[in-house]
Amino acid sequence: MYEEIAGLPEAFKHRFDGLGVSAGIAIGPAHVVERGLIDLPEYGLAEHEIAGEVARFEEAVAASAKQVRKLRGKASGLPGAAAEELSYLLDAHLQMLKSSRLVRGVIERIRRQHINAEAAVQAELGEIGQAFAAVSDRYLASRIDDVREVGTRIVRNLSKVPYQAFSSLPQGAIIIAEEITPADTALMDPTKVGGFASALGGAEGHTAIMARSLGLPAVLGVPSLVTVARPGDLIIVDGTRGQVVINPSPETIGRYERRREALLRRQRQLDRLRGVAAITRDGHRIGLQCNLELPTELGLTNAAGAEGIGLLRSEFMYMNRDQPPDEDEQYQALRTIVEGMAGRPVTVRTLDVGSDKLAYSLGEHLSPSVNPALGLRAIRLSLKVRPLLEAQIGAMLRANAHGPVRILLPMITTVGEVRAVRELIPRVARRLARNRIAIGKELPPVGVMIETPGAALAADALAQVSDFFSLGTNDLTMYTLAIDRGDEQVAHLYDSLHPAVLRLIQFATVAAQRAGIPVNLCGEMAGNPRFTALLLGLGLRDLSMAAPSLPRVKQRILELDLAEAGRRAEQIMQQSDSGVIAALIEDFNALG
Ligand code: PEP
Ligand code: MG
Repeated sequence: MYEEIAGLPEAFKHRFDGLGVSAGIAIGPAHVVERGLIDLPEYGLAEHEIAGEVARFEEAVAASAKQVRKLRGKASGLPGAAAEELSYLLDAHLQMLKSSRLVRGVIERIRRQHINAEAAVQAELGEIGQAFAAVSDRYLASRIDDVREVGTRIVRNLSKVPYQAFSSLPQGAIIIAEEITPADTALMDPTKVGGFASALGGAEGHTAIMARSLGLPAVLGVPSLVTVARPGDLIIVDGTRGQVVINPSPETIGRYERRREALLRRQRQLDRLRGVAAITRDGHRIGLQCNLELPTELGLTNAAGAEGIGLLRSEFMYMNRDQPPDEDEQYQALRTIVEGMAGRPVTVRTLDVGSDKLAYSLGEHLSPSVNPALGLRAIRLSLKVRPLLEAQIGAMLRANAHGPVRILLPMITTVGEVRAVRELIPRVARRLARNRIAIGKELPPVGVMIETPGAALAADALAQVSDFFSLGTNDLTMYTLAIDRGDEQVAHLYDSLHPAVLRLIQFATVAAQRAGIPVNLCGEMAGNPRFTALLLGLGLRDLSMAAPSLPRVKQRILELDLAEAGRRAEQIMQQSDSGVIAALIEDFNALG
């Protein structure tokens, strides 16, 4: 949505509302990610390769149409003329992605000239450009920009490379893009980038999670932003309120600067809690650990005073590269992190790609899925492509020689999956021993993520084959409510306070306690102080979260009475309406 701010000159009028997914305020120059043509590969094809190349091009066209349709859906939600204008433009793009001169011309070129699809798109764009330049109608001539934009989109989908390393940006730049993937986020250096905003993306997707972990203010789900913002415009991203302001007035800048200063002051106060133990008013100690998506976050983890890493998402090692890392490279990366934690445990999760977490380095193993969230992902992929899993396990066993490592398995639904990995671990250990490669004295404990309703309901059985549980409430909420966590269109329906989700959390927690195994919660709920009383009231004693959230959660624990929180949780568990549940939580939180 965009709001006109009365009384300001035209250029200062743009304020957009979106999903504030990572708190904080950033003010800086816009870096608008142009999906510009990158270095295009050009090569010839043999006769037998032609059909495959045409199919590859058609797949890229289909992917492009899907992206434009998604944007089109968002555009219709804009008020008044903006909706009409943007929808009209995107309809034209969709039309071009059907049987247009561009699409037909490219296919013909591949067949006739035996060249790759990227080169064919480039050549076809050149020829269409010349034809347009020759017409005297200025309006028609200007449409070439649209054709180029569509061509560029197709090429991006053909080349499937990460868009750019955000390394040469001006200090404090605000990245504006149609979509920012988790892999793009992994390329952002939080000491250089100020924050980001995009048209697509939901609050619980991995891009949002990474923004929170890196402490980068971010607003997602802001349609038409890319169309309005120009490179170098001054941008305010308010990730706390979910607002983006383009070219603000000096008064507006002053207002946001004062708010930013207040937020930073509060942060500095909370930082003083670093060395304070997280003990409730009635004397219960709570374990607080951090989630880590990138090695660069290690400093933040230590600064937050984390007792360990409750979830190391190993996907970072597979992003932004063509080939997956081998065991040795993974060992080196893990070793750095394990040593950095100086004796505190590091829980390394095996690869959890699939769905919104794509890794091009695994392209050959990840074919398009009818429903990626339910497809070949996470542990299912690892068990199918054994060399990948063996390399990961090998790296973890070796890193375990430098400090305590725990192995965590994502998306487990059956006891058989856990058993399969448990059988593999001693085999990999023997292979390493035969090759005289050092591993830890004891094999690491093996835990499972409880993040599907099936796993939660079978938690008693899974507890028999697991050394610990980690509750992944991000996916648990998504699969229980059938709401895609990364889709901004249904973001308002994504609700971890739904009674079904809370019952599954409670059921799995009790199952772990009965079996006498540790259980922690590492979903995004853990980092939201609003939920702390409820989670402790449900029986959890260990939480793992993004480093910037830890001081806020600790502060909440210090002011809590666990016995009272338990009573409130009992009351909450008798409710059937998440609105009433939210009210009972707010009311309890307001009491201190
Ligand atoms: C979860 O699903 O809650 C979780 C912690 O894992 P991820 O967010 O990486 O899917
Ligand atoms: Mg998950």
